[in-house]
Amino acid sequence: MVALFHDKSACNGCHSCYNICPQKAINMVADEEGFLYPQIDSKKCVDCNLCRSVCSIYEKKDILNKNRPEAYAAVALDNTIQQKSSSGGIFSLIAGYILRQNGVVIGARLADDFQSVFHYAVEKPEDMELLRGSKYVQSEIGGIYRQVEQYLKQGRPVYFSGTPCQVDGLYRYLRTDYPELYTQDLICHGVPSPLAWRKYIQEKQKLYGATVTSAFFRSKRNGWNDYAMLLQFDNGQEYCDTLRKDAFLSGFLSNNFLRPSCYNCRFKQVERAADITLADFWGVQKFYPELSDDCGTSLVLIHSEKGQALLNTIQSEAKIDPVDLDLALSHNSSAFRSVKAPAVRQKFMKQLPNKNFHKLVKKVKSRSIYKRAGRMVKRILRKLSRK
Ligand SMILES: Cc1cc2nc3c(=O)[nH]c(=O)nc-3n(C[C@H](O)[C@H](O)[C@H](O)COP(=O)(O)OP(=O)(O)OC[C@H]3O[C@@H](n4cnc5c(N)ncnc54)[C@H](O)[C@@H]3O)c2cc1C
Repeated sequence: MVALFHDKSACNGCHSCYNICPQKAINMVADEEGFLYPQIDSKKCVDCNLCRSVCSIYEKKDILNKNRPEAYAAVALDNTIQQKSSSGGIFSLIAGYILRQNGVVIGARLADDFQSVFHYAVEKPEDMELLRGSKYVQSEIGGIYRQVEQYLKQGRPVYFSGTPCQVDGLYRYLRTDYPELYTQDLICHGVPSPLAWRKYIQEKQKLYGATVTSAFFRSKRNGWNDYAMLLQFDNGQEYCDTLRKDAFLSGFLSNNFLRPSCYNCRFKQVERAADITLADFWGVQKFYPELSDDCGTSLVLIHSEKGQALLNTIQSEAKIDPVDLDLALSHNSSAFRSVKAPAVRQKFMKQLPNKNFHKLVKKVKSRSIYKRAGRMVKRILRKLSRK
């Protein structure tokens, strides 16, 4: 087995090389941090170079909708959908429309054992539960781009939802513009390590002496702004803790275990390859209080005519209001800036395979609290010495 590139740090794991290879010579192999990278089986490889031709590292030209997007605040009128979604439930409404057109919806779901996340095709409304809600773990694409191509060749509408790098990967793989393909990406903070998530779930199961039966990363029990991780177990017990206290959410938002390419993400711009971008409308209560109910408001960015047509189809099922793009993005720096890798990341990831995940997060947290306290004491001493 040989790696596809010498320096893997720019690989976002989009899987376009894996999907395009006619010889099935590429395997996606997890590294010690738990992220998947392509490895070529030299016995099967025929040097056709297709893998490099669809790779964003070798072929840098981006496929973008160049127009400045139209921005909207949007909330599903059905409160159950809003409650069960990460923000305003707009993903579910668009998905519902596509399914009614005999289409296919493709998005991220948790595995049956809740220990991993992967992309999955849904054709029936009753399966939509699987896709609804953000899963803050890198989702495995597997062979889904090939599946998308098959559906499109059958003439069925396809709604593909994923991170900006996954949407880019899909277009790179397809290399043809299909009128029935609708794509939607996210404003993405970055994707956490699948290994971190697996360890977190396994340790929670051990602690509760039970098996997880549901996992929701965006419970709104304490409101949308103070969202929480909610786990339910087969012995009837429940775990629920907010983003500041929960080990996984707080570690994710402290950027301790994101994929290396996320710290230097090439998709940090308002122009996107996708037809629509969905996001949390952070700051909505300040700028548009009439559109905020602390149960979730989606920010919708429309990049293309197809995107506008999709939004038009859900007009009767949602409250949708045009908003100012700059105001809307002013509380969402993930739209245009990569997060910085904290100094502790390398040490954290090195220890992750063998140490207890919860203890590692706690250790890093207390160290940063001490550091912050130390900096504050120094500032006070400096001020006092000037007097
Ligand atoms: C890893 C990640 C980071 C994010 N970071 C931000 C951010 O910094 N700022 C911001 O405003 N919004 C961010 N979002 C988007 C936000 O969490 C909501 O997904 C978005 O507001 C849409 O919500 P909704 O209520 O319309 O639909 P939901 O029902 O909540 O959306 C569900 C759909 O989102 C997609 N999705 C869920 N998990 C994943 C995954 N692991 N990989 C790929 N696609 C996935 C799916 O296809 C899924 O089916 C992020 C989402 C993810 C997955």
